[in-house]
Amino acid sequence: MANSKYEYVRTFEQSDILLPNTWIVVRIDGRGFHKLSDRYAFEKPNDRRALDLMNVAAVEVLKDLPDLAIAYGVSDEYSFIFHPSCELFERRSAKLVTTIVSTFTAHYVYQWSNYFPDTPLQSPYLPSFDGRAVVYPTTRNLRDYMSWRQVDCHINNLYNTTFWNMVLKGGMSNTDAERELQGTVSSDKNEILFKRFGINYNNEENIYKKGSVVFRQYQLEETKAESVSKTSQDLGEEETAAPENVSKSQQEKIRKLRRKAQVVVEHVDITKDDFWEQRPWILSGKPGKLPAEV
Ligand code: ATP
Ligand code: ATP
Ligand code: MG
Ligand code: MG
Repeated sequence: MANSKYEYVRTFEQSDILLPNTWIVVRIDGRGFHKLSDRYAFEKPNDRRALDLMNVAAVEVLKDLPDLAIAYGVSDEYSFIFHPSCELFERRSAKLVTTIVSTFTAHYVYQWSNYFPDTPLQSPYLPSFDGRAVVYPTTRNLRDYMSWRQVDCHINNLYNTTFWNMVLKGGMSNTDAERELQGTVSSDKNEILFKRFGINYNNEENIYKKGSVVFRQYQLEETKAESVSKTSQDLGEEETAAPENVSKSQQEKIRKLRRKAQVVVEHVDITKDDFWEQRPWILSGKPGKLPAEV
């Protein structure tokens, strides 16, 4: 390796290795998507094409990075989750975040014309994303993080659905609708939707109400019958007490198995135990059984 007098500049690089044995969440978010959605005439409150495009980009990220356990997306954001045992890029934060942001953005732009054939991308109005990594020490923390995003999705969607019906169908101005909605609770919004517009919020599509969950598909397992209160053992925390020493060749084997699984997008409740119990491979990091060939 060349050794020049300039080499010392390397020592200015700071370590950004993420805490070992913790869940790594990389959340990306579209930059200025409020404006971008106007520019390309996204339908309000929910443009299905825009969500499908986000989802197809996320699926490609999961296919590209077998270390990812699961991802969750809503609006212009996506959270990508690495298992505590992940050693990709020696857990260097910048490497993980920039790889996810650029891979996602590349696929988002690449696929744009398939979802918006009539409104091609135009410079300088190009989509870009920011990203950050946050670590969570327990499985409960991780699940609470996921629940936080999904509950946020529900709250925002109920608000947006009501607001846009008042404006688009009710003929109200943005400011009037906003004023009327100030201080209202969920039941008030449900009532406005039902009484004024004949909409039962429960019948809205799950992709809007619950967001999108992306993961590798294996055979579902039975849920535990006695799932009333969960101990930390049920949450798999005993497995994270000491970092498991997985050899490089073992890691490669697991990656290969993961690549064989189909990556799917579902719009399901992830705040309850059922989702995680039926898909133990997501939290355990151990690949499940591939669906039997038909
Ligand atoms: P920032 O750069 O700070 O993230 P932003 O304009 O992207 O600013 P966000 O809080 O991220 O603001 O909100 C994203 C906005 O993008 C939403 O408020 C909405 O207007 C628009 N948007 C994103 N996805 C969709 C969609 N599928 N359908 C309609 N509008 C969408
Ligand atoms: P990492 O993913 O860790 O960054 P890397 O393989 O990208 O690994 P770098 O340290 O970024 O490694 O080095 C970039 C390498 O890419 C160079 O060593 C060189 O081999 C190749 N490369 C980059 N730009 C050019 C170029 N313009 N022409 C030919 N080769 C190039
Ligand atoms: Mg944004
Ligand atoms: Mg956002």
